[in-house]
Amino acid sequence: MTWFEETLYSGAVSLGYAQKFEVSCVIHRETTGHQDLIIFDTPSFGRVLALDGIIQTTEKDEFTYHEMLAHVPLLAHGRARRVLVIGGGDGGVLREVLQHPIDSATLVEIDRHVIDLCLAHLPSLSNGAFDDPRTRLVIGDGFRFVQDIDETFDVIIVDSTDPVGPGEILFSEAFYGACKNRLSAGGILVSQNGVPQFQASELTDSHRRLRRHFDDAVCYLTVVPTYVGGFMALGWATNDLSLRQQSLEVLASRYEALGLVTRYYTPAVHVAAFALPPFISRLLS
Ligand code: SAM
Repeated sequence: MTWFEETLYSGAVSLGYAQKFEVSCVIHRETTGHQDLIIFDTPSFGRVLALDGIIQTTEKDEFTYHEMLAHVPLLAHGRARRVLVIGGGDGGVLREVLQHPIDSATLVEIDRHVIDLCLAHLPSLSNGAFDDPRTRLVIGDGFRFVQDIDETFDVIIVDSTDPVGPGEILFSEAFYGACKNRLSAGGILVSQNGVPQFQASELTDSHRRLRRHFDDAVCYLTVVPTYVGGFMALGWATNDLSLRQQSLEVLASRYEALGLVTRYYTPAVHVAAFALPPFISRLLS
C-alpha cells in the first residue's frame, strides 16, 4: 500500500504533524517548471491534486471551499458583472462564479499545466467552465496582471497556493494595493488565507496589509476537511462597509432568484461565516 504524506507541516518548517492519504493509483506526476504536481486517487477523498507536496483540492470536499470563495462576494455585491480570479487553475471557483449572471470571468493562472491536467484528470472541478464564452483565460503571473492592466472588476477572487513559491507574491501588500486599483466602486476582494489554527501569521500578516488599502478588511470562515486544522480563513476586503452586513433576507432573495445550486453555501451560512471565534478575531486585532 502506498501513502502520500502532505509536507505542509512536516517539511522544512515542521509542526511535527502531517496528514497522509492512502493512494490507490497515481494518475499523473510531473515537475511543471513552476511546481511539483501530482494527481492521485484515494479511497476516501476521490481524486486529489497536490502542488509542491501540499493538498490543493479533492473531489470529495472541494465544494466547501469553492462555493464560499465565489458566492459570498458575488451575492453580497449583488450586481457584479466583471469578475477576476487569480490562480484557481483547477477551475472550481470559475465553475461557481459562472452560476451568476456576469458578463465576464477572467482567470489568471501562472501554470498552464494545472489547467490542462485538471481538465484531463479532474474535469468535474471546472465542469465545462473553461468552455463558457464568458471565460477569458490568461496564463501568467497574477501580480503582474493586476499591475499592468487598466480594466476594473467588481469582484476579485484570489484562489492561490500558500505563500511559498509562486503564490508568495499574492499575499504581499503591493499585490493588494494593485488589486484595489483594479476594483470598481463597491468592489470586493476575497482570498484564501490559510487555516488559523496552524497558519496564524499568514492571516495576521495578510490582514494587516489589507487594512492599509481597504476600509473594511476582515475574514470569514469555511471548513475544508483536507486543509487540516479546523476553520479555514478567507480574506474579505472592500471600501463599502455595508456589503459585509447584507441582511439574510437580501441574500436569500438573491440566492433564490438565481436558482443557485450549492452543497455548502446558503444565505444563513454566509451570514454566520463572518462570526469569528475569539481565537481568530484576536489574530485580526
Ligand atoms: N484551493 C487551493 C489551496 O488553497 O490550496 C488553491 C488551488 S489553485 C490550484 C492555486 C493555483 O494558484 C495553482 O494552480 C497555482 O499555479 C496558482 N498560482 C500560484 N501563484 C500564482 C501567481 N503568482 N499567479 C497566478 N497563479 C498563481
